[in-house]
Amino acid sequence: MADPKGFLKESRQVASRRPVEERVNDWNEVYPNGIGRALLPIITPQAGRCMDCGIPFCHQGCPLGNIIPEWNDLVWRDDWEAAIERLHATNNFPEFTGRLCPAPCETACVLGINQDPVTIKNVEVSIIDRAWESGFVKPQPPEWLSGKTVAVIGSGPAGLAAAQQLTRAGHTVAVYERSDRIGGLLRYGIPEFKMEKQHVDRRLDQMRREGTVFRTGVNVGTDITGDQLRARYDAVVIATGSTIPRDLAATGRELGGIHQAMDFLPQANRVAVGESVEGQIRADGKNVVIIGGGDTGADCLGTSIRQGAASITQLEIMPQPGEARPAAQPWPTYPMLFRVSSAHEEGGDRVYGVSTKEFLGDEDGNVRALRLVDVTFEGGKVVEVEGTERDLPAELVLFAMGFTGPETDSVVHQLELELDERNNVKRDETYRTSQEGVFAAGDAGRGQSLIVWAIAEGRAAAAAVDEYLTGSTTLPVPIKSTERPLVV
Ligand SMILES: Cc1cc2nc3c(=O)[nH]c(=O)nc-3n(C[C@H](O)[C@H](O)[C@H](O)COP(=O)(O)OP(=O)(O)OC[C@H]3O[C@@H](n4cnc5c(N)ncnc54)[C@H](O)[C@@H]3O)c2cc1C
Ligand code: SF4
Repeated sequence: MADPKGFLKESRQVASRRPVEERVNDWNEVYPNGIGRALLPIITPQAGRCMDCGIPFCHQGCPLGNIIPEWNDLVWRDDWEAAIERLHATNNFPEFTGRLCPAPCETACVLGINQDPVTIKNVEVSIIDRAWESGFVKPQPPEWLSGKTVAVIGSGPAGLAAAQQLTRAGHTVAVYERSDRIGGLLRYGIPEFKMEKQHVDRRLDQMRREGTVFRTGVNVGTDITGDQLRARYDAVVIATGSTIPRDLAATGRELGGIHQAMDFLPQANRVAVGESVEGQIRADGKNVVIIGGGDTGADCLGTSIRQGAASITQLEIMPQPGEARPAAQPWPTYPMLFRVSSAHEEGGDRVYGVSTKEFLGDEDGNVRALRLVDVTFEGGKVVEVEGTERDLPAELVLFAMGFTGPETDSVVHQLELELDERNNVKRDETYRTSQEGVFAAGDAGRGQSLIVWAIAEGRAAAAAVDEYLTGSTTLPVPIKSTERPLVV
């Protein structure tokens, strides 16, 4: 156990973000010199608050099964090298989760029953940032090669985790990505102010040195067919993400100025790292309305603020959640709460319990306003509140209502993969699809989810592929595809 009295002496403290008026003028992470450095003065006593519980519910909360009390103890004892070894044993990319995970481990922390939980996510990112700075993170190329080849389709966190595990197990792995750069949503979805891309690049450099091969600009299904893949590789991992965005079929949908979040955010991400984008969708000087109250919406909000929007309103059809756990979501579940992200601190209004009836246009065919109405839920049905119709001015409307599933008309179709009842790629509990030698991991099989899940599934699918190719495996299986952890 770290400090037997740690949780009695210390209260929870998290890293301070840069002042809002400073950070909205740049695209850098919202923490001073990166979150790892911002945490340096406080993290050791924070790790010491861990009680090393007999039954650590935080393990159950983390889809990766991160061995949290062990690395808390090592940090408190100042053994950072051992801490990163423990952390890397269960998580290939703690720099991603330590910055971006909603931390279901913390809502399952036993201390959280009657106190503020341990700052697990902050400890995680401190360990990995310090490990990179101290040179503890080194390439781990395999000692021998199996002679087997694997194609991983998609380079998001699921594809990267699968590729790293399989390369280290001795297989020859090629990651195919249709975009011009590797990273999936880590690269072009998530804004720089949440995670600078240098963290992705540094990890890719490690993976290249280990032997993983990356092929960008290859749209599998078009540039290389399913049959060619099968002929060239011994196994295939489908990690193509959940990319079909939910739309809103209201009157006026065809007007100019109405876009999907994933048309807007990738362009902003490119410009933030110095590229130019012709005809970029921009928020400058506009009244921006974001439809969808989740994380993608918050990313559109922070991006619009930095682009100089005149006003920003984020709409959510559901009622505003409370600030305390609802009785129906007791510890250690992951509760629905009113959360304030860094972008919400920076500006914009959030409106709950509201629905868009219509988009109103100007004489040039561009959107000028949304016709809104308040709604309630009665017997699971949306009911409009009479007399609440009003117009909200908007010259830019961004849809951030989630994703319905993976694209199924390309490589998934060519490989003749069965789909499940939610239109995701069907797999059994070991990530095998309906076709021999083809596996599916991450959002493509799970549906829209989280980075921590994508990494966990990529690791588990790698173990299944290794077993398929060699008859046995020593790679860990964090989670079966059918397993739901107790908290997310
Ligand atoms: C804007 C946004 C913000 C988010 N923020 C967070 C967050 O803060 N925290 C969090 O935990 N989760 C977040 N998420 C969710 C998270 O990013 C995803 O759950 C995760 O990236 C899924 O990983 P994946 O590897 O399955 O797929 P993806 O990251 O979607 O990667 C799939 C890749 O496959 C490629 N691809 C698809 N088809 C083909 C093909 N035919 N040929 C070649 N390549 C192909 C795509 O180009 C893409 O690069 C966010 C999602 C969005 C959209
Ligand atoms: S990956 Fe997420 S759930 Fe797991 S320990 Fe880190 S912050 Fe917690």
